[in-house]
Amino acid sequence: MIVYAKLDKEADYKSITAFIVESNTDGVTINPLKGKLGMRSSTASEVIFDNAKVPVENRLGDEGSGFKNAMTILDSSRISIAAQCVGIGQGALDLAINYAKNRETFNKPITQHQAIQFMIADMAAAVHSARVVTMDAATLKDSKLPFSNEASIAKLIASEMCIDVTNKALQVHGGIGYFKDTNIERMFRDARVTTIYEGTSEIQRLIVARQTLQQYQ
Ligand SMILES: Cc1cc2nc3c(=O)[nH]c(=O)nc-3n(C[C@H](O)[C@H](O)[C@H](O)COP(=O)(O)OP(=O)(O)OC[C@H]3O[C@@H](n4cnc5c(N)ncnc54)[C@H](O)[C@@H]3O)c2cc1C
Repeated sequence: MIVYAKLDKEADYKSITAFIVESNTDGVTINPLKGKLGMRSSTASEVIFDNAKVPVENRLGDEGSGFKNAMTILDSSRISIAAQCVGIGQGALDLAINYAKNRETFNKPITQHQAIQFMIADMAAAVHSARVVTMDAATLKDSKLPFSNEASIAKLIASEMCIDVTNKALQVHGGIGYFKDTNIERMFRDARVTTIYEGTSEIQRLIVARQTLQQYQ
């Protein structure tokens, strides 16, 4: 695993350095965490370090370069998470429309109720908007242009979109959507973490505010 650690406990972020740490190193304990709300096909673990010794040749990059490298990695991975959110949102929209076309109430498919049509319109608009900002950030990165602000904007918009869209898609399913068989129940749970990992929505807002204000100096 790759571990980011301070070389000097009292120093600021400029002493953060990356290391490759073998998981069987003496003093390293890995405790898989149980009971996640969603994303259950991947494990998240607590890692405890108790006087674990790492040889200097396992250092990744220069001393003190860890924070800068981590931020560079996060800029790119935020685009990946935004793309993941677009996938979840599109999947939820597909499920909702498929269900709504087949479910009848008051002698007609629920797609013919305007309340359902409005939810479908809101979901489609939100998924499309998130896809466009995600593609924009990815295109800037591929073109080797600055993309940090756009990556945070994409992550913020797409993650909040997929929580909202899975919520609406579950609503379109009515009571059956609360059960595992429909799959929307899983998407609803999976979506929730996306505003938390890879930088919370609050942190994305801090980044976007800082970078936007800089553009007006
Ligand atoms: C399923 C799962 C998988 C994960 N996978 C990884 C992984 O692979 N790699 C990895 O490194 N991490 C991973 N994480 C950790 C994740 O990145 C952190 O949980 C996340 O960054 C939030 O940090 P925290 O939990 O310490 O919350 P805190 O930092 O304690 O935040 C708590 C609340 O306070 C807010 N907050 C904190 N600081 C500020 C501030 N300065 N201004 C405004 N609001 C603030 C936060 O937005 C949040 O709402 C994972 C988490 C989960 C749940």
